[in-house]
Amino acid sequence: MKAAIFHKPFDMTIEAVEMPEIGDGEILLNVKACGICGSDLHMYKLDLHTDKLCRKTGKGRIPGHEFSGDVVKVGANVQEFQVGDRVAGVTNGGGFAEYNPVLVYPGFNLFKIPPDLSYEAAATLEPFANSVHATLKGKPANGENVVVFGAGIIGLGIVQCLKELDIQLNKIIVVDVSDGRLKMAEKLGADEIINASRTSPEARIREIVGSSPLMTYAEESTANIDVVYDCVGYIRERPEPAALQQAINMVREFTGRIVVHGLFEETIPLDLSYFVVKQVAVLGSFGFFPDDIAMALDLMGSGKVDRRQIITHTFPLDQAREAFDMQCDVDSSVKVMIMP
Ligand SMILES: [Zn+2]
Repeated sequence: MKAAIFHKPFDMTIEAVEMPEIGDGEILLNVKACGICGSDLHMYKLDLHTDKLCRKTGKGRIPGHEFSGDVVKVGANVQEFQVGDRVAGVTNGGGFAEYNPVLVYPGFNLFKIPPDLSYEAAATLEPFANSVHATLKGKPANGENVVVFGAGIIGLGIVQCLKELDIQLNKIIVVDVSDGRLKMAEKLGADEIINASRTSPEARIREIVGSSPLMTYAEESTANIDVVYDCVGYIRERPEPAALQQAINMVREFTGRIVVHGLFEETIPLDLSYFVVKQVAVLGSFGFFPDDIAMALDLMGSGKVDRRQIITHTFPLDQAREAFDMQCDVDSSVKVMIMP
């Protein structure tokens, strides 16, 4: 079978590799779609976490962990799936290939998908479940103002999820440095968008939602922001202050929540004065629980959330390299899908 093999940064080739054998607890998947994840880009550009993100074969390492496809073989101990099931899920790599063996952890890494959900949309189930998980952690409530830093796949998924919760938010504000991605955020329901490469987010956010004096230091004020989702983390090449620092500076005193999903490319200095004085809650978010998957599948399967909108490009497996280069081009792409 054909597979994309990652060698070193910016070096990936298509090779013929052996057809995978499956163990008793595994299924074999005929991969139909596999998305390129932000963590795959960390590998592609910097060789970070490569072993965790790839399936090792005699010919080298195959990345790709956000996939969908058809079950074509079932190991003796697997009871939850049958040949012919359409599934979506997440693995430790191997998805950028025609076939991929998946060790089944029932309820955690492989899920049957509704009949009319496309393979491309279904392959975004894992990042969307991450978005659902992060969204709920922030406990957004009626009338609140929310900021999302980063209009990538997770941030946009948070916007999609926020729009379908049973609450009426006051403002959803999305901050990014790509006009293309900000336009996408607007299309998905953001009330305001801010390009941080041209505009100071905090100053603009104070204009949009106003500010309130601090109880602790009456001469100082803070923006009226209830929840911030940090889907940026820290990216070495960006000159803007870290989103987490901006978030600490802008959330409300006492009740402000920050949910951090973005990854940090290196250790960063933070001024924590406002974190302490305003008594801000900072919550990490990573992955998902079974309930998040159920909610994500329900929102996608019912058509309330249309994930095809954020898939900007699809490439055949033979052009995996071009697909990765396109995913690196944040101005032109949001989610790039490889269709083996
Ligand atoms: Zn991922």
